[in-house]
Amino acid sequence: MTASDTSAPQAHRAAEPVREGERPQAYYEAIKARFAAERELRLKFRPEGTSQYTSDFSGALSRYATDPWASGDIARAPIDDEVEVLFIGGGFSALLTAARLRERGVESIRIVERGADVGGTWYWNRYPGAACDVPSYDYLPLLDEMGYVPSRLYAKGPEIYAHCQAIARRYDLYDLAVFRTTVTSTSWDDAEKLWRIGTDRGDAMKARFVVCANGTLSKPKLSKIAGMDRFEGHSFHSSRWDYAYTGEDLAGLADKAVGIIGTGASAVQAIPRLAKAARRLYVFQRTPSGIDIRGDRPTDPDWAARLGPGWQQARRMKHLRGREADAEERARLAALSREEKIRRQEYANVDHMMRIHRRIEEIVEDRATAEALKPWYMFMCKRPCFDDDYLPAYNLPSVQLVDTAGKGITEIGEAGPVFEGRTFPLDLLIYATGFEVQKTGIYNEIRGRGGREINETYAQGMRTLFGVHTHGYPNLFIMGGYQASFQFNLTFMLQTQGDHIAECIALARARGAAEIDVKPETEEWWVREVIEHRGKTSRNADCTPGYYNFEGEFNRRQDGNYNGGFLQYYTHMQAIRGELEKHFIFG
Ligand code: NDP
Repeated sequence: MTASDTSAPQAHRAAEPVREGERPQAYYEAIKARFAAERELRLKFRPEGTSQYTSDFSGALSRYATDPWASGDIARAPIDDEVEVLFIGGGFSALLTAARLRERGVESIRIVERGADVGGTWYWNRYPGAACDVPSYDYLPLLDEMGYVPSRLYAKGPEIYAHCQAIARRYDLYDLAVFRTTVTSTSWDDAEKLWRIGTDRGDAMKARFVVCANGTLSKPKLSKIAGMDRFEGHSFHSSRWDYAYTGEDLAGLADKAVGIIGTGASAVQAIPRLAKAARRLYVFQRTPSGIDIRGDRPTDPDWAARLGPGWQQARRMKHLRGREADAEERARLAALSREEKIRRQEYANVDHMMRIHRRIEEIVEDRATAEALKPWYMFMCKRPCFDDDYLPAYNLPSVQLVDTAGKGITEIGEAGPVFEGRTFPLDLLIYATGFEVQKTGIYNEIRGRGGREINETYAQGMRTLFGVHTHGYPNLFIMGGYQASFQFNLTFMLQTQGDHIAECIALARARGAAEIDVKPETEEWWVREVIEHRGKTSRNADCTPGYYNFEGEFNRRQDGNYNGGFLQYYTHMQAIRGELEKHFIFG
């Protein structure tokens, strides 16, 4: 059912199944025009870009930051000791890099983590249905090293979280770890050649090397909606699920009217479970996600038993290199102009999106709801989702899609969200409104040589090597930041960075060097590389707003991810690693 399909235009007629490649150019142009119109519509409703959101959960919003998984007394004496390597954050980035450091004999490793355990994303996100969207055999790190094969193609949240804890145990990372502690300052001491780390618990720790492993999507954000604080029902963010309210099995929702704002990857996984459990479920949608087939299945034990040493890296590398084209195919591709290649890719992407549309038509019974669930943007403008239970949930009589057609919820009253004058009374409102992206969370209060804050250094544009090193910030390594590559399987990207960082630290130790700092000319080479490739996609200009394109905001060309492709990023990193001495200054 749909509460509003006000401005939802008709699906393009040509979306009917036709043999791909046989459609006229006008068909594609009409769909692209519709994509552009939908983008404009959304931008019109939120010209404020990223500032439509807040991650400042102080004051009235502080309850949205409360850690539901931590309990007991948090009092402890401040720490003022020194370690060799300190990780800010205890998620995958820290775990997979720390493992490599252990392999290289580094003993003194500390994780400082805001949560009460390791796990990062998988510590915080325990909403019902949480699972990885990349095959587990590629996504879960260190499978080979841990001698572990996930139980299914898409492992569920608890299994991934348990894997994180197992890594921490296996590599003795709990010994020096400090939990429920947030780093507030990171300052280079040039006299002592070490980093001084301040925290919200009054600690004054010292570390020779610091790795910022605080995640790319770790700070929850809330849409700034008028009247949020007036709502008299219960509410929480999807990454702070309150099972005390819902019940572990969601049985507590059987007599409740529940609303969820947002239809991104988190909501897509939670909605089918909420739909089954709640008396009434309202889904407040601004832009639909594209939902593809998931096809989850248990791991075949015979296949798992046959896996040999190095299987995970071999698998990842095979994906990275892709399918080798045969001679005939190579010749055919070589004969095409660049414009023709781009055009073909674009048309293939449109075909893909229209297949997503047809799937909705086949599954969702109510026509108006089906129309409202159709994403009108190019493939990969928003993160693709994969779920086999999401679309059928809209066939349940208790589920209502409130399609705001790009406008979003802009008002909340005492009883619940208000859209076009209608109030939706709720017992529970869930904000599945996402996370602050990369930038601000990572580059927080980091002072390098001469006390220079890193955002000051980046004021004229970001400057890094691989997104990891910045000149003037010796012995500091940033993971998952800008100027790194984008990779759908994020953990492969992180492992590539982690391996590189461990190598840099190992070399500095082997040389007995107190410092390792990237050479300005190497940094300059990478900044140019990033700028050159940033022009390769027009995602910012063409895509519907979302976190992939900074909500449609203008960005300087070097302030974003490296767009040369992950294979290229990987190759460059291997090359530099082969000659670290040439590209780094050792002090
Ligand atoms: P997203 O940022 O992807 O989604 C936020 C949602 O909130 C969007 O649908 C957005 O609409 C909507 N929204 C924001 N403000 C309003 C408003 N005022 N009214 C109505 N709707 C609103 O966050 P998620 O937590 O879903 O996902 C974030 C990322 O986390 C994913 O892209 C993925 O990288 C990762 N993730 C991975 C998972 C996995 O691997 N299994 C699972 C879950 C998350 P609009 O689109 O219009 O902006």
